[in-house]
Amino acid sequence: MTEAKNLQDLDKSMPEAGPTQIGRSRVAATGAWGGYSNGEIPLSAMTAVPAQVGQPYLRPDAAVAFFAVSRAYESRFGSAVSLTEAYRDLARQKALYAVYQNGGTLAAVPGTSVHGWGQACDFGGGIQTPGSVQKLWMNANAPAFGWQPRGDSFSSPEAWHFEYDGSYEPGGSGAASPAVAFATNTGELWTWAGAPGTLGFGTGTKLGVAANTSPAVRTFGDTSAVAINSTNGSLYTWSGRAGTLGFGADAKVGVRPGTSPSIVRMPNGQYAVAFQATDGGLWTWVGAPGTVGFAAPARVGMKDKTSPSITVVGAKAVVAFQANTGALWTWTGDPGTTGGATSTTEGMAAGTSPAITAIGSKAAVAFNSGGNLWTWSGTPATIGGGSSTKLGMWPGSSPSMTTVGSNAAVAFRASGGGGLYTWSGQPDTVGFGASTKLGMKDGTVPSITTVGTNVAVAFEADSGSLYTWSGAPATTGFGADSRLGMYPVGGPSIG
Ligand SMILES: [Zn+2]
Repeated sequence: MTEAKNLQDLDKSMPEAGPTQIGRSRVAATGAWGGYSNGEIPLSAMTAVPAQVGQPYLRPDAAVAFFAVSRAYESRFGSAVSLTEAYRDLARQKALYAVYQNGGTLAAVPGTSVHGWGQACDFGGGIQTPGSVQKLWMNANAPAFGWQPRGDSFSSPEAWHFEYDGSYEPGGSGAASPAVAFATNTGELWTWAGAPGTLGFGTGTKLGVAANTSPAVRTFGDTSAVAINSTNGSLYTWSGRAGTLGFGADAKVGVRPGTSPSIVRMPNGQYAVAFQATDGGLWTWVGAPGTVGFAAPARVGMKDKTSPSITVVGAKAVVAFQANTGALWTWTGDPGTTGGATSTTEGMAAGTSPAITAIGSKAAVAFNSGGNLWTWSGTPATIGGGSSTKLGMWPGSSPSMTTVGSNAAVAFRASGGGGLYTWSGQPDTVGFGASTKLGMKDGTVPSITTVGTNVAVAFEADSGSLYTWSGAPATTGFGADSRLGMYPVGGPSIG
């Protein structure tokens, strides 16, 4: 796959792997963090990585550095680094220690293993063998990313064991800056990093996005998770720092042509994806991004050419979608299970998709009804109530929605001039909308996310390139051209 035509415009001055950011404290040490006990760290405080045994998580900054090493390794050896084990909880450490006491492999005293801090990795794929070309490469290169070959100096050496001693950013949950995922004009998935409303920079992932579909992205700490309808027709998930090659995997479940997935981070640190499967039904997927994961049907049919939207209310996933009846439905349950779905009384414009967000214990949905922007609010999988904002939407277009404080904020393409508008208010009320005075490309949908008390929007401008916009919802704000070319249909995702 070739690079986007606007590559020469990219700002490549930002480091690809740097675990330290200006203005954040640096603690170059391996050990306790976050007030947690060894082996008893909540998974929600860590970032998912594709480890084969144990619990597939690392401390968020260690995960970023892991993906950076993996990218460098891949460019040398042609495949991502093989990660056997990362975080290890106390129960597993106790079991391994008991085996060691009975003559088995060396294991640390429970409560002392660096695996229990989410800061150690055991690698395979040749790295486990002293003197192998893979091991020699890792010893020479991994320390530059903060990963040290500490297992080499164990009383019984472990070539595979590396420990992360890079920076730690206290309280690093949530995104400092959202990431953008988009399909370039060659159809390749790119991620973009930067402050919304500035030039920023983007990089390709080598993954192909199916025609007329959009990727979905959510960022936690410095690591982003992306879901796409891939060019081979199946769901792919990707994980990495925005603006790097990252790590993708085929979920091996088919996605309906012309439809796009939606992704959210669950409170347990796993990611959930909602999508329209090739059977025309709503499905949900759960797992660590960049791994196969697990998908299951919700057993409810979706309107052709429409896409679902997913959020979290409490500990459950909640999905809004246009059912095959043409009505707005909501679904709730654990991702990867059948769950339960119920119709609202709201009808949706043909071929349009709803957008969902959580406000307290309720779900809020934005959708196109009769050519106007409507919002709906209610307990997930109940009838709830909806009302018009009295703002006209471009024919056949769909909105995007997020939560700012206790209000909802919506980005949409307005009727008339076809420009980008944002709306703010309580869902199920008229609220207030304003033009950004920025034009949008026909056939594309904007994407909105929350940044503090403001919102950021990514969209395809009428020039065909990726724009980001920043401001308070329902104000003019300010936008900037990223100078990156996009697919003519679909749209970017920001989060
Ligand atoms: Zn180890």
